[in-house]
Amino acid sequence: MALLFRNKVIIYNKELGLEIIGESFTTETNYNRKQIQNYEEAYEFATKAGFPEHGMVISIGETPHDEDIFKGIQTETHLKEAVKLAISKSPAKNVYIETDMRAMYNPTRMENIKRATEDLIQNIKRCCPKCDWPGFKLIEKKRGLPCSWCGSPTNQILHLTYKCLKCSHVEEIPNPDGEQKADPRHCPSCNP
Ligand SMILES: [Zn+2]
Ligand SMILES: [Zn+2]
Repeated sequence: MALLFRNKVIIYNKELGLEIIGESFTTETNYNRKQIQNYEEAYEFATKAGFPEHGMVISIGETPHDEDIFKGIQTETHLKEAVKLAISKSPAKNVYIETDMRAMYNPTRMENIKRATEDLIQNIKRCCPKCDWPGFKLIEKKRGLPCSWCGSPTNQILHLTYKCLKCSHVEEIPNPDGEQKADPRHCPSCNP
């Protein structure tokens, strides 16, 4: 089963009572970690993980201290130096390499944050129909759109509920695709 990663960006202003969230969900991540014995192993791991565009981190031990972590490695020279230093500091060769997940060193992460930001922009544009406040917020996704054959509730979206953070106006919006009934292939009873 693929892991689902959540990326979140928020605009928050307490005085205005404004909170707008943008999210993206993805199974795409390049997070990976491996124990290494030498530079060759480190380099092999790094290139598979998208080095040098994707930055690497070299660290010593399972739970390293700050001084035993070398971050933001994006050149072969820097990688070579970090591996050499780490191995010299850890005679037991308890040295690890992992992908740097900080956005500026990680194009995959950056792409995911970009998608969350696009979602945020969509949410800013969605204003409360009553008071026009930006960020009319999705608070519930109700599933259970009835099957077009047997009428049983399916896992398809029945309606979305939005709430205004300013005036508390709540609105239910029917299935966003405009469908009244679900395709039987989503039905747990019919399951064609
Ligand atoms: Zn409102
Ligand atoms: Zn059915």
